[in-house]
Amino acid sequence: MPIVLLYHDVTPAGQDDLSGFPGPGAARYKLQPDDFRAHLDAIQRIAPTSPAACFVDGQASSQAWMLTFDDGGSSSVQPIADLLEERGWRGWFFITTDRLDTPGFLTRPQLQDLYRRGHVIGSHSCSHPLRLSHCSPEMQLSEWRDSRLELESILGCAITSGSVPGGFFSRGVAQSAAKAGLRLLFTSEPMTSPQRMGDCTIQGRFTVYRGMTPSSAAVLLRSPWPRWRQSAWWTTKKLAKSMGGEAYIRLREQFWRHAYAAP
Ligand SMILES: [Zn+2]
Repeated sequence: MPIVLLYHDVTPAGQDDLSGFPGPGAARYKLQPDDFRAHLDAIQRIAPTSPAACFVDGQASSQAWMLTFDDGGSSSVQPIADLLEERGWRGWFFITTDRLDTPGFLTRPQLQDLYRRGHVIGSHSCSHPLRLSHCSPEMQLSEWRDSRLELESILGCAITSGSVPGGFFSRGVAQSAAKAGLRLLFTSEPMTSPQRMGDCTIQGRFTVYRGMTPSSAAVLLRSPWPRWRQSAWWTTKKLAKSMGGEAYIRLREQFWRHAYAAP
């Protein structure tokens, strides 16, 4: 079963908003360049292989693992892709297509460059809705389909993978992704075993947060214990999300704002 790590942007100290979505909520997933390099070094020390740049169902025994990057921030090319390529690695980049060519996000030429360099490009929806799982089936479908078509027109290749924005996964989100032509959908649910939903494979990922040490990220690839711990925490949060709705989102933002105000 593949083990997939979920990263976001890599930004210099004090310049969190330079790449990706602005604000303290997004910043908690952003690493500084030296930290990201240390993560890659730690992963390289224990990883049995290079990260996979393709996905084959039934890789259970192959120790496959992947590095994925959500949102399509401008740091995808530099430093992220540069640092991956120093090791001969390639990553999976999921793009919020409405943000292309806007401040903090990839330009279309940068996206083409990323693809030419061998990285995998997928959809992260058009507009990155706050809660995709609460959108109508029609809107979910257009978020996936229009984003896929936009990427295909920019890159001239088939786009078959995507990742769920904001971690708001549901059965309906998977069904709309499959209907829009995606064959592989990454969630933010910390699971290793892929699931099938129609023609679409659903694959969980383990999120890397700011402040997570390089060894803590790397050990996710090797040991089931930290993966189980993240799964337990995720299950708790998911319950809160389902019970709290908007209140949960406000509470989460307040929590992180206070966390950032602390010395
Ligand atoms: Zn996102």
